[in-house]
Amino acid sequence: MKALPHPLAEKIQAGQRLTAKEGLELLQTKDPEEIEQIRGLADQVRQEKVGDKVLFASTLFIHPTNLCELNCQFCSFYAKPDWPSAWFSSPQEIEEKIRHHHPKGLTEVHIVGGLWRDCNLDYYEELFTRIKNIDPNLHIKALTPVEYDFLAKLHNISVEEVFRKMMSWGLGSLPGGGAEILVEEIREKLAPGKISSDEFLAIHALAHRLGLHSNNTMLFNHVEGEEDIITHLGKVREQQDKTGGFRTFVPLKFGEEGNPLGKRKKALRKKSIPLVFAVSRLMLDNIPNLKVLWNYIGVKEAVEILTWGANDLSSTNLEEKVIDNRTTQMDGEMLSSLIREAGRIPHLTNSGESC
Ligand code: SF4
Repeated sequence: MKALPHPLAEKIQAGQRLTAKEGLELLQTKDPEEIEQIRGLADQVRQEKVGDKVLFASTLFIHPTNLCELNCQFCSFYAKPDWPSAWFSSPQEIEEKIRHHHPKGLTEVHIVGGLWRDCNLDYYEELFTRIKNIDPNLHIKALTPVEYDFLAKLHNISVEEVFRKMMSWGLGSLPGGGAEILVEEIREKLAPGKISSDEFLAIHALAHRLGLHSNNTMLFNHVEGEEDIITHLGKVREQQDKTGGFRTFVPLKFGEEGNPLGKRKKALRKKSIPLVFAVSRLMLDNIPNLKVLWNYIGVKEAVEILTWGANDLSSTNLEEKVIDNRTTQMDGEMLSSLIREAGRIPHLTNSGESC
């Protein structure tokens, strides 16, 4: 007997916006047949919105320092000054690294690090100037709202002034990090010292108003409930309605290694990773790109998620170290082959399309 269509199929196919209650129903689905229908709907919406191209970038990740004033419970990256794992790179050392990788066809540098007083505005002026001297077309995607807030407080100026200075030195866009889950009770458990959800979104809104695009992430599979995921998606969608500057949404699976939260395994609440992607695609009707980070969930799994609504396979990830301080990388040819084998069209971005 032929299965009935999913109860929300007609609404989704008509391009109508899902409510939070409907999003939650989708995320709580347990029936394998219904889950397969949700996958099919997310794939169909992806096809209609952005076609078969799968974006990827050639990215050098730059982490100026892992020294950080905070110690977020989920973080596997930070260090304190007396730890053997601590590092701090000068702008000159970073320039040498970029010059080494630049001939391999870099399209962007992605800069994020710890909250540390030596990474101040003088530091970033020198770093960005050195980067633009190497190649004025190299896209600089840099710093999360948490870091912009830190810099503003460090220099006793507004976040807008920080943005204006950084833009004059070559800032191109903002990455999506630091969002975690945009629900205060959960943020308090994960990262008690970080700016609030409202402050986080307000800094993105300010960036959008100044003409910068940005991404938004969502860290899941830790202590959040399904309702929290839907609240996060709802807040991002609402913000996008107002300012329109989010290019890409990036669900990030929490990594259990090397952090206090991961050690408390019993506290973790795991969800179906592909289903979180599909529901993100279906709820976020106003954000074009859905990115899957293969270095967070595995290459095979990431390629599979291209059939659950995703259209961006992230990047070559040269020197990425945020995930429990490991480096994992793939070159552009490898990524292109994987995308072609999945029946899709690889498309190297210059960061104007995806951020
Ligand atoms: S998540 Fe960011 S702010 Fe929190 S400890 Fe790690 S590096 Fe510091």
